Amino acid sequence: MFDNLSTKLDRAFKTLKGQGSITEINVAATVKEIRRALVDADVNYKVAKEVTDKIKDEAMGRDVLISVSPGQLMTKIVYDELTELMGGEKQDIVIKGEPAVVLLSGLQGSGKTTFAGKLASYLKKQNRSVLLVACDVYRPAAIDQLKVLGEQVGVEVYSEPENKNPVQISQNAIEYARKNSKRVVIIDTAGRLAVDEQMMTEIEAVKRAINPSETLFVVDSMTGQDAVNTAKTFNDRLNFDGVVLTKLDGDSRGGAALSIRAVVEKPIKFISTGEKMEALDMFYPDRMAQRILGMGDVISLVERAQQQFDEEEAKRINQKIRKNQFNFDDFLSQLEQIKKMGNLKDLVGMIPGMGKAMKDIEIDDDAFKPIEAIIKSMTPKERAQPELLNGSRRRRLAKGSGTDIQQVNNLMKQFEDMRKVMRTMNKMSQTKGGMQQMA
Ligand code: GDP
Repeated sequence: MFDNLSTKLDRAFKTLKGQGSITEINVAATVKEIRRALVDADVNYKVAKEVTDKIKDEAMGRDVLISVSPGQLMTKIVYDELTELMGGEKQDIVIKGEPAVVLLSGLQGSGKTTFAGKLASYLKKQNRSVLLVACDVYRPAAIDQLKVLGEQVGVEVYSEPENKNPVQISQNAIEYARKNSKRVVIIDTAGRLAVDEQMMTEIEAVKRAINPSETLFVVDSMTGQDAVNTAKTFNDRLNFDGVVLTKLDGDSRGGAALSIRAVVEKPIKFISTGEKMEALDMFYPDRMAQRILGMGDVISLVERAQQQFDEEEAKRINQKIRKNQFNFDDFLSQLEQIKKMGNLKDLVGMIPGMGKAMKDIEIDDDAFKPIEAIIKSMTPKERAQPELLNGSRRRRLAKGSGTDIQQVNNLMKQFEDMRKVMRTMNKMSQTKGGMQQMA
């Protein structure tokens, strides 16, 4: 699911890769790509435009964190907007009343009956006594289908095959539930292949008669823009409480998921990803946004960096790198910063100028210990002027830090390599006609 969208967004972010700052030009190009990716994924054009306009404002207004790349920051901004678009917070269904009544609506084939079984199983696992009600008076097969599912999940199914009045059946079912201590009644109603007046009038009447604590609209996510239109029609008539998106396991482009919430202003509460009775998930807007972006790691990294990284310090170091004055004090300070943020391997790449230079160092927490010990054995003068470190001084460092001369020499070499990379970078940005703007 969403593979297509993820790939395209990924491409959009690549445009930003290697760029030092989020400028108007690169934001405009990226935002355009993002909009195209959303529309291609079946997101309603108006919705896509609103979202990308917000993303643009957000990106332009944001002080670029020096400790993350523009691509990473942009990912986070898009992630925040997608989460918001899909409703922000997760929303539970309301189970209230004696018994609580859940009414299911939706077109035929949307996965309504399958969902009824899944929801019954889900609520049963929460130790609630559940009654499933077959209210499709047109298709006897629908009653049988619900009975099979009911048996499968161990939930009783109420039906009146001879009765053609869905209002009566649902009222009788609720009465039956009361007498038999069922706490939740799930009513599966008749669907049609397309929206039709009789169906709407009928389900409206059922809703009015039984006053459910939750009315859910079930929709097949594979139907793309149609899903959005159907949702709108049902909502105008039923004023439902929430949406169930089914068949997200298929090759659905997923855009419907993104648009429905924005168009009907009702939360998506469940997603269904298969025909197995267990394949029901609560809908978490943030997790869905992560899945769409396929970049969960980047998002948490940026979040952690935003929380932890000392911006002032990063700016100071950056200045020193540009003036070719990066020394062992700065190196140590960078190590401290990295350590504060946890998982070293992932984080090193986020420090400007450091990622590439340090890629050859095998990074784990322990790998830093001898390095720190060696640097801490240096005098302040040696830290500031590493060229002072001749053979005898290095031997002293090895002794003082409990390492050996080989380790000290390695560090010196790595440090020198790093400074070389920094000098080259500086030269490159100068010949390009000025320093790369970083903040
Ligand atoms: P109803 O007419 O709305 O009650 O729809 P059904 O529950 O009968 O589902 C229609 C078809 O879609 C059936 O073949 C189901 O097995 C299938 N189906 C339902 N939910 C899902 C789902 O989440 N994923 C997939 N792949 N198929 C589903």
